[in-house]
Amino acid sequence: MKIKTNDQVLITAGKDRGKKGKVLQVFKSVQKVLVENINMAKKSRRATKQGEKGQLVIIHRPLHVSNVKLICPKCGQAARVGYKVTEGGKFRVCKKCQQEI
Ligand SMILES: [Zn+2]
Repeated sequence: MKIKTNDQVLITAGKDRGKKGKVLQVFKSVQKVLVENINMAKKSRRATKQGEKGQLVIIHRPLHVSNVKLICPKCGQAARVGYKVTEGGKFRVCKKCQQEI
């Protein structure tokens, strides 16, 4: 996974295409990310007991990583990410500005 928590991402598909948001959570096993204020869905919850009202709850739905693009914090562009391996470890690099991100 090239996307990490707290990354800024650009949504490239779906109803929120073109929007930007912050990654709140990453689900590695399913390759999905939860992005702040993106892909919100209303879900109605039915009353379970008599006399209770049904509720509308707003939930966040995770997006597949292929539908988001990382925004490089260094150059501010939606960029592809590469890796650079040095003695100090493995770093993510922006393919546009070549800086570590
Ligand atoms: Zn960059």
